[in-house]
Amino acid sequence: MKIEIILEEFRRHHVGGNIDLIKEAYETSARIHKEQKRASGQPYINHPLTVAYYLAQLGMDAETIAAGLLHDVVEESKYTKEDLKRQFGEEVAMLINGVTNISNMKRKAKEHGKVESIRKMLLATAKDIRVIFIKLCDRLHNMQTLQYLPQEKRRRIAKEALEIYAPLAYRLNLIKIKNELEDLSMKFLQPEIYNEIEERLILSRPHMMKKINEIKEIIESSLAENHIKAEVKGRAKSIYSIYRKMQAKDRPVEKIYDLIALRIITKTVKECYEVLGIIHNTWRPIPNELEDYIANPKPNGYQSLHTKVISDEGSPIEFQIRTKEMDENAEEGIAAHWKYKGEKGDKEFHKKMFWLKEIVEIEKNTKHPLEFIETLKKDLFQENIFCFTPKGDVIELPREATPVDFAYAIHSDIGDKCTGARVNDKFVSLRYPLKNGDVVEIITKKDHVPSSDWLKFTKTTKAIGKIRRALQLQRKLAPKLKATSEKTKSKYVELIEIENLKSLVIHYAQCCNPLPTKDTGAIATTKGVATIHETGCPNFKKNIKDRLKIKWLDYSSGNIGIEVIAHDRVGLLADIINTIGTTGTNIVSAKAKTIGKDARDEFIISIDSLEHLKNIIKRLMKVKGMKMIKLLE
Ligand code: MN
Repeated sequence: MKIEIILEEFRRHHVGGNIDLIKEAYETSARIHKEQKRASGQPYINHPLTVAYYLAQLGMDAETIAAGLLHDVVEESKYTKEDLKRQFGEEVAMLINGVTNISNMKRKAKEHGKVESIRKMLLATAKDIRVIFIKLCDRLHNMQTLQYLPQEKRRRIAKEALEIYAPLAYRLNLIKIKNELEDLSMKFLQPEIYNEIEERLILSRPHMMKKINEIKEIIESSLAENHIKAEVKGRAKSIYSIYRKMQAKDRPVEKIYDLIALRIITKTVKECYEVLGIIHNTWRPIPNELEDYIANPKPNGYQSLHTKVISDEGSPIEFQIRTKEMDENAEEGIAAHWKYKGEKGDKEFHKKMFWLKEIVEIEKNTKHPLEFIETLKKDLFQENIFCFTPKGDVIELPREATPVDFAYAIHSDIGDKCTGARVNDKFVSLRYPLKNGDVVEIITKKDHVPSSDWLKFTKTTKAIGKIRRALQLQRKLAPKLKATSEKTKSKYVELIEIENLKSLVIHYAQCCNPLPTKDTGAIATTKGVATIHETGCPNFKKNIKDRLKIKWLDYSSGNIGIEVIAHDRVGLLADIINTIGTTGTNIVSAKAKTIGKDARDEFIISIDSLEHLKNIIKRLMKVKGMKMIKLLE
């Protein structure tokens, strides 16, 4: 890579742009990185040069390209932020600062919390979306040279690229970068499948080319007859997209490889619909495969017509029809927008930023806030990690922080009472090191107190301070606490009161299935037992004289036992545990067994009130395959 190529690319987009700035940035960067080598053994300067070249290809301005050339210099202590500002001005220094340190955003996210805060974080970046462009080009080149890094680093970086940077590129509609990041990640994460798909693609290529050319000729002559000038292109499919289609398993593997895909680029929107008409007249369209993203653009601004037809040989052909502007927008996203709107002065820049803000507005109304969070999984930030509460609040913690740190960061009361945690829906130990983007749910228990063990693995000063204080307090109150904990251990909490006859033993009838969510009554049986039935149960109906008045106790809190009977299937137990988890319930113990086709799982759970128990029952009844929930005595 040579600086001349970058300058040439820059001139192509910006006639009369500030070439001197880019040249000076190059000379400075080359001087500072002079002694350094990349892991590949190449001179280090190749890396910033390549990053700058990608930025130039995207049509970025001189400041962004200069920042791309200089993005790694501050890591070298010889050259300070102040030097940078003095030599290249506020703007370039600010962009580089944004790439290396985004700590202001972190603080903001913490103040605002929730999904809103993530959006605000994006907006905070949106003031300088160019920072994200630099970061994406940086990561793209790092992925292209990933084979030179040690094995364990490769996996981590590839995973990050797939989970954080590729979705971010998609969000900004930088489809080429997204596709390349995905393919490269897959190459390192699943080399076997990657190679297999690549090989099959190479093998099927000659046959595909022949077919594509046949279809192309037919279309081109129809277009000529109708006096439409449009460009017809065969479309390259990314390996990752093929892999995703294979995973979805909605069609046999051969069909995925053999799918012919063409793109038609027109001059006007009107012509897009005319071309669609021509295609549908030539071949039989497949029902429900027509998508009009021109009238209804995707949230990221993507516009195109998609349709599928059946070829004369009976295989499907996929068409994308769009204008030149839509096509460039689809390939280069916001960068294309940049080009079309011109780039003179600050006002234009704000206009571009406004466009991005619009995307974020649209995002607010989409159904999947979690997907949005996923796209921003925050490894953009170096020193600290960001975790989420189940409701989407962002909690900032030092690296290696544990669920106990997380609990104390929410509230000291939650910290004191925390007994366990679920991270990304899996139970983990309290000393589990949290990672960026983890969704952490803290399980608490009344009367629970911190243990001195916690001091061995907690990382935050807040947690350590609070644990120490709680331990001191415990020593003072020790005898009292012991008494209460022994009491709660003894038995299940009582849920029902029999009017005037408190000493009766409660028994749940086996003929029906009495639950607090249903109409229930009790009849007296021998030996001081009151049997609870559903009021609709035949055994209850026929016994009128021994009926007792009962009352479900609203304020019952403590441990109760339930048995859950459901049609057994893969993932059933996880579904049940998650469902109980969504009600904020602590599971004290779980026992699972299978009888015939049914799974019978017994749980001891802690409830806060009768309403809480009813909520658990109602939600469990909705679990797929659920047959019955029983209360245990
Ligand atoms: Mn770099």
